[in-house]
Amino acid sequence: MHHDRNALAPEKQASAHMAQSIRHAFCTAVNASGLPPMAVLELASMALGAIYKEAAAAHRGSNGCPCGWHPDAAADLDALRLALGIAASVDASVDLRSVQALGNG
Ligand SMILES: [Zn+2]
Repeated sequence: MHHDRNALAPEKQASAHMAQSIRHAFCTAVNASGLPPMAVLELASMALGAIYKEAAAAHRGSNGCPCGWHPDAAADLDALRLALGIAASVDASVDLRSVQALGNG
């Protein structure tokens, strides 16, 4: 097994930060609104979709972000749905690296 820890560190850090932030927002919203968990999760999904749309818009046109990402809505949304499904799956044996590989394509 060969792993470059330095190369993986930023991704792990981002993963932990996103999980912590979204979990906090979820718990706060459930407690404050009294809405069922599934309703709040749907709101979270809607927020995520809106963020995707904003990020994609910022990468189009001559004044777009120069980072090199070229949004492809169909493929990008497939990747998001796949990541959601795998992360939520009760089958813990699924290898999350396959999702990360898709995200880097
Ligand atoms: Zn960019």
